[in-house]
Formats: sequence, structure tokens, C-alpha cells
Amino acid sequence: MAAVIRLLRHSSSSLSFLSRSLSTAGVKETVKSQTYPQNPLPTAVIDPKSRNVQWVFLGCPGVGKGTYASRLSTLLSVPHIATGDLVREELSSGSSLGKQLAEIVNQGKLVSDEIIISMLSKRLEAGEGKGESGFILDGFPRTVRQAEILDEVTDIDLVVNLKLPESVLIEKCLGRRICSQCGKNFNVASIDVKGENGRPGISMAPLLSPPQCVSKLITRADDTEAVVKERLRIYNDKSQPVEDFYRGQGKLLEFDLPGGIPESWPKLLEVLNLDDLEEKQSVAA
Ligand SMILES: [Zn+2]
Repeated sequence: MAAVIRLLRHSSSSLSFLSRSLSTAGVKETVKSQTYPQNPLPTAVIDPKSRNVQWVFLGCPGVGKGTYASRLSTLLSVPHIATGDLVREELSSGSSLGKQLAEIVNQGKLVSDEIIISMLSKRLEAGEGKGESGFILDGFPRTVRQAEILDEVTDIDLVVNLKLPESVLIEKCLGRRICSQCGKNFNVASIDVKGENGRPGISMAPLLSPPQCVSKLITRADDTEAVVKERLRIYNDKSQPVEDFYRGQGKLLEFDLPGGIPESWPKLLEVLNLDDLEEKQSVAA
């Protein structure tokens, strides 16, 4: 009981910090829910010069959400805050929250909203100390309750939902390989889906390893078709209400990935009206 009270006290103080640290949001803007490429985002909606962006990235496991969120955060000079990373950092820190987390994770239980919010708050507090502003959240909010809490304390400008057809996701997951020596990730799947019924085709080149890794490549034990399908089913069940929540607010941008990074990155920038920004940065570099 004492632990629960401590946790509640901790998370309510975290919430008030979250409120303070995020209350700098500027003009609230509205984005209509739409699907790329039929209805590109209106030009006036995203102006990264007015203030730093406060975005959320959604997408099922294997879609490459972390990669796109990380690239955009670099481009926009805002932190990429991934809850998965926060959990891993907390676990390895040996803190009391880390120990609590380890117990929850080891029992196969879900990490509560309070703990997630407490970690997010701690991360933002540390970032604020370093002069950070704006953010791209990756892996949060995962539930409607988390989305509601987030709404109480800040304005989310845009929620980007990255999508790939299930057949492509499965093929991609089954193609994953990890080098047992250097730990780098590769992918042997070569995806080439022809466009049909008005849907554009999808092509993804494999991400092959350098010769020195070839003999050391391993497949993760849980990258089987059954496990991947189950993972997607669980994800869809949970994310649907969160997507609906943001769709209802007119903030959801559905983005059907046209392929791997080389195909998708320029399209994503175009839809977000950031293609100019990247040109400027690459000229400056
Ligand atoms: Zn290697």
C-alpha cells in the first residue's frame, strides 16, 4: 500500500511538472484527418519556425516508426522520446523505479500509465535542464487514458500514423537478421508489391550485411509468422482507440509508407511540408 501511495504521490507531482514544462505550447492548430497521398496536409498547418513541434508517432511493430521519428527529430532539432528507451534506461539505472519496473516486466505485467508518465516527466525535466523544447513522442500515448492525460498538460499538434499492409509487415519481420558479433540489424527480405485497385505499389530493398557479418547473422526466436501476427493483432486492438481519439480531434495523419526509407523519407517530408527544410540543411552541411 505504501508503495502505491508513494507512486501516486510521485506521479501526481510528475504530472504537475509535465504541465509546467509543456505549458509553453503556442497557437493550437488543427489538422484534418487524412490519408496520404490523396489529401496532402495543408501547407499552413505545420510551420516549424513558429515553435518547436509537439508530435506523436504511431505505428505497429516493424513499420520503422523509431527510424522515421529519430530522423525527423534530428532534422527539427527536437528530442525523440521513445518510451521503450526510457524503460530500458530506467531498468539499467538500478533506481528504485527501475527495480519496480523489473518486477513488473519479469512478471509479464503491463507497465502502468502512472509509471510511464513518471518516466516521461523525468525525461522532459532532464531535457528542459539542457534547454530542449518540443518533442516527437514514440511509443506514447499507448492508451486513450494516456492520451487524455497528455491532453490535459499540453497541445499535441500532429499524430503521424505510419502504415504498411500486414503481408508486408510479416515479410519484413521474417527477414530480420541480427549480427551476433556487432549487434547490427539487417533485413534479407526483398519486397515488391504491385500496385492494384488504386493503391500504389510498395518496394523495399533488402538491407544486406557487410561480408564480415554474413556468417554471424541470427534470427530472433520470436520472429516467426505466428508471433508476428499475434503481435500485430495485439497492437491493432490497443492502438485503434488511440487512433480514433486523435482522428476525432482532427489531428491524425495516416501515412501509407510507399516502401523503405529511400522511398518513404522524401514523401514523408513532402507531406509534412518539411522538404524545404531538408534541402536548406543539406546545402548548409
Ligand atoms: Zn557484424
